[in-house]
Amino acid sequence: ANLRIGFIGLGHMGGPMAANLAKAGYQVNGFDLVPAALEQATRDGITVVASAADAAAGADIVITMLPSGKHVLGLYEGGLLEAAAPGTLFIDCSTIDVADARQAHDLAVKAGHRGMDAPVSGGVAGATAGTLAFMVGADEADFESARPLLEVMGAKVVHCGASGVGQAAKICNNMILGVSMIAISEAFVLGEKLGLSNQALFDVASNASGQCWALTSYCPVPGPVPTSPANNDYQPGFAAALMDKDLGLAANALRGNGVPGELGLRAAEIYSRFHEETGGTLDFSAIVNDIRRRANE
Ligand code: NAD
Repeated sequence: ANLRIGFIGLGHMGGPMAANLAKAGYQVNGFDLVPAALEQATRDGITVVASAADAAAGADIVITMLPSGKHVLGLYEGGLLEAAAPGTLFIDCSTIDVADARQAHDLAVKAGHRGMDAPVSGGVAGATAGTLAFMVGADEADFESARPLLEVMGAKVVHCGASGVGQAAKICNNMILGVSMIAISEAFVLGEKLGLSNQALFDVASNASGQCWALTSYCPVPGPVPTSPANNDYQPGFAAALMDKDLGLAANALRGNGVPGELGLRAAEIYSRFHEETGGTLDFSAIVNDIRRRANE
């Protein structure tokens, strides 16, 4: 663990991810724009530096965990790459557009470095516990050199293919999740209208061909799955704003690649409206309440 890591973006996810690297004995130089994030990082054993470029200087590996592709590309194009020693491995863990991820990789390579996309699922709880799932788009050799580090922050690390393909896996998975959560929620509301109890629908569908994760692990109505956010006033979990973001990326990719993903595009519209109307802070499974409200209007 004598690698030096530059970690840029110490927010909800990046903060605990960097903390786990420091706890595992890595030298982590961290930077964020928000002073409170830097104070927490110091408490977590991260060496706070004055800029993103300072985090990259002298690092073997630079990890970014930022809100969106424009933040990642903004840094890559704004002097970060020049600040690093040749051959540095740049790992972007943010969830961003596939096209942006490929551009980030190409910029890193053009600057004499190595680049990969390694978006995650598992949320803040997974980041804190070090049990994230990583979906990696990278050359084989780069993947192998990053693997030990990713295994500190995550419990499951999958090499999905070449650069950009990690992001592809992330948005495809979340498109399945968004569409299936809407489908499950529509079925519960329709069942209610037809005099079918939530528990009875759950008992049937969870053992039949309607079975899926949105139903059996994350049931959007209170009762059947005690650990689902529905039993906790729809506190996230996975906030609707984040589902909106990920479906927006999926919709972009559908359009950009000529895929007639009618349900994926519709799911993006539904979560965008829900985000706008509610502020997006509730768990994404609260979509069931929006459907029920419309049903009763
Ligand atoms: P966040 O907003 O909490 O953290 C992002 C951090 O980046 C902020 O602290 C911000 O100050 C910092 N930042 C922005 N621009 C910067 C710059 N130029 N230099 C340094 N720091 C900068 O977001 P988050 O929840 O940690 O999510 C980060 C990424 O992970 C997003 O792409 C998100 O989609 C993805 N993601 C989030 C979750 C989740 O549950 N929160 C789960 C999976 C993936």
